[in-house]
Amino acid sequence: MIDLQRHFLFRKILKYIKKYDTIIIARHIGADPDALGSQFALREIIKNKYPNKEVYAVGNPSSRFRFMGELDKIDDVLYDNSLLIVLDTPDIKRIDINNFDSYKNIVKIDHHPVIDEYANIEIVDDGSSSTCQLILEFVFSNNLKINDSIAKNLYLGIVSDTGRFMHDYTSFKTFELVTKLLKKTNIDFTSLYEPLYMRPLSEVRFQGYIFENMTVTENGVGYIKITDDLLKEFNVDTASAGNIISELKCINEIIIWAFLTEDKKNNLIRVNIRSRGPVINEMVSKYGGGGHKFASGARLSDWDLASDLVDDLDNLALEYNKNNSK
Ligand code: AMP
Repeated sequence: MIDLQRHFLFRKILKYIKKYDTIIIARHIGADPDALGSQFALREIIKNKYPNKEVYAVGNPSSRFRFMGELDKIDDVLYDNSLLIVLDTPDIKRIDINNFDSYKNIVKIDHHPVIDEYANIEIVDDGSSSTCQLILEFVFSNNLKINDSIAKNLYLGIVSDTGRFMHDYTSFKTFELVTKLLKKTNIDFTSLYEPLYMRPLSEVRFQGYIFENMTVTENGVGYIKITDDLLKEFNVDTASAGNIISELKCINEIIIWAFLTEDKKNNLIRVNIRSRGPVINEMVSKYGGGGHKFASGARLSDWDLASDLVDDLDNLALEYNKNNSK
């Protein structure tokens, strides 16, 4: 069944896009396949529909996902008469753009719980599996053309954010939209998994180290402190933990798990947290972080805070176990 209100909101966004000659598409810092896939797909969708518009996808690149497309470099001039579309980003502080304040006309499309309301038009659905799924809805609501490269980027974003259709928020609607996408384009989707999931042996060995050495509390919190020295020893970078975190989803003894990674260059500790029971994002927001109910992150200034966070996670697990013991 079509949700008419939403359908009209997607139509309204297209009308808004039509008004501007220059469109800048941004997303969150720490680019991932959902953010990049939605960005590249939307750039192409708009270019196909309006070949004379200038459309730019901006933000810091990620070498790992370069196969998905190339980002644009633009000057930080005032963009009074441009439209900024921000994808996959609930808060202003995490938008990967320097001159956010210069934009007066902003659209937000996101699937995270709301943090800041910063746009003139916002489509936010934290029940959607991914931002790529929302872009797919936008395409179908407006009868827009879709080609193979658009389809591949949207598929990659959905597959990646749902953990190959496993995580929470993968829904009937996700499958319905993806089926429609595949029927329309007939892309060779199984060939997309290899570039998405290929990784160096050093990272796999690092994963082995994590499995061997993480601490697991009595209440079911698995965590590990990853120092800069350890990253150097395994020849991996600070982003590696984020690539591994989902691998701990199906371990009997663990219901919440966290990687605490030292980022020496930026003088902070990056935290990746996942849960398969307790809701974590509200507690994590106390530490300036956020995210989804069962997938959150934060950036901390020191190891003491990291210990406090682990204690808070342990309390969440304790409470959860109390309420869910048979
Ligand atoms: P990650 O572990 O980096 O994959 O992040 C999981 C989720 O938490 C994503 O939805 C992010 O948007 C969110 N997240 C990660 N880091 C932060 C942060 N420093 N502040 C707010 N949200 C974050």
